[in-house]
Amino acid sequence: MNEPLYELMRLGIALAGAFIAMVWAALVLWVYRDSQSRSEGFLPTLLATSLVGSTFVVGWAIYMMLRPRQTLMEAYRGELQHREALLASTSGELCPACSTRVMPDFRLCPNCGTEVKQPCDVCKRPVRSSWNLCPYCGHVRSRSAAPVEEA
Ligand SMILES: [Zn+2]
Ligand SMILES: [Zn+2]
Repeated sequence: MNEPLYELMRLGIALAGAFIAMVWAALVLWVYRDSQSRSEGFLPTLLATSLVGSTFVVGWAIYMMLRPRQTLMEAYRGELQHREALLASTSGELCPACSTRVMPDFRLCPNCGTEVKQPCDVCKRPVRSSWNLCPYCGHVRSRSAAPVEEA
């Protein structure tokens, strides 16, 4: 093998080595940040970074398969949305006439004035016209309206 070609090969290998080392370091850094945003505590991050640090792309591929699907921020947002939906489904009601959201203690729809609840005869708290008794004081309501259909 002649000298210049050998030098060129050595240079090429050195460059390739430096390039791989850079990619490796970047990958470890990326995994470090990514796992920190996805899991709480230091251990998962330590495991992930040492995995990628020792096995390079193989470890990275394993990490990509095993990492939590959501980041902590996404999980937090999802939880928030879930809670809002739950709150809306339990506390919020829709006006039967105009579908405006009415709060549980509203007696009239703030938009169209439809009476969504009537005050209890005893405790005066808002009770839905479809309820048989007052959920606050247990007063059985005298109902002039049609009886509720049995399920
Ligand atoms: Zn309304
Ligand atoms: Zn009552």
